[in-house]
Amino acid sequence: MKPSQGRSPALLLDRDGVVNDDHGYVATPERFDFCNGIFALIHRAIDCGYRIVIITNQSGIARGYYSEPEFHQLMGWMEREFAQQGIQLSGIFHCPYLPGAVAPEYDRDSFWRKPNPGMILEAARRLDLDLAHSIFVGDQPSDMAAASAAGIARRVLIRPVPVHATGTGEADLVIGRLADLTARLPWSSP
Ligand SMILES: [Mg+2]
Repeated sequence: MKPSQGRSPALLLDRDGVVNDDHGYVATPERFDFCNGIFALIHRAIDCGYRIVIITNQSGIARGYYSEPEFHQLMGWMEREFAQQGIQLSGIFHCPYLPGAVAPEYDRDSFWRKPNPGMILEAARRLDLDLAHSIFVGDQPSDMAAASAAGIARRVLIRPVPVHATGTGEADLVIGRLADLTARLPWSSP
């Protein structure tokens, strides 16, 4: 599937808990551990014609745990790590906003903050993505809600441990490991 033939499907990935282990407000390479199976999943997705996009809430910026430049610095490092694996990302979209933020410039409700679909819709607009045939992978019900609101039918929730009180939200597939999704690609049935 070539971009010139129209909109591209994408594999849209939440970051913390999907790309890297969620140690809580990860802001440095020292604390950034790639999740098992993420490189294989992305390679498989690219082979199947998907572009790769990261969609991440970053309330750590609003909470004052790290700055937006520090976030971009870490993402530059991450992209270089991906490049060493032969992987090129099509985009990284982040939301630094949070009502009640320490820093006034980030203190607001945002259509970009998941469970709202703003980041996904903006990614689709900028990158000309075919959301109806895209896949979203997250580890929180809010990821599934954002994907659903954006019109993504293939919503995958990663739950390494049995689902508990928070539930699965609007997921249509719940898996324990990224490899369980890799084995499913190409995902032909809606
Ligand atoms: Mg997450």
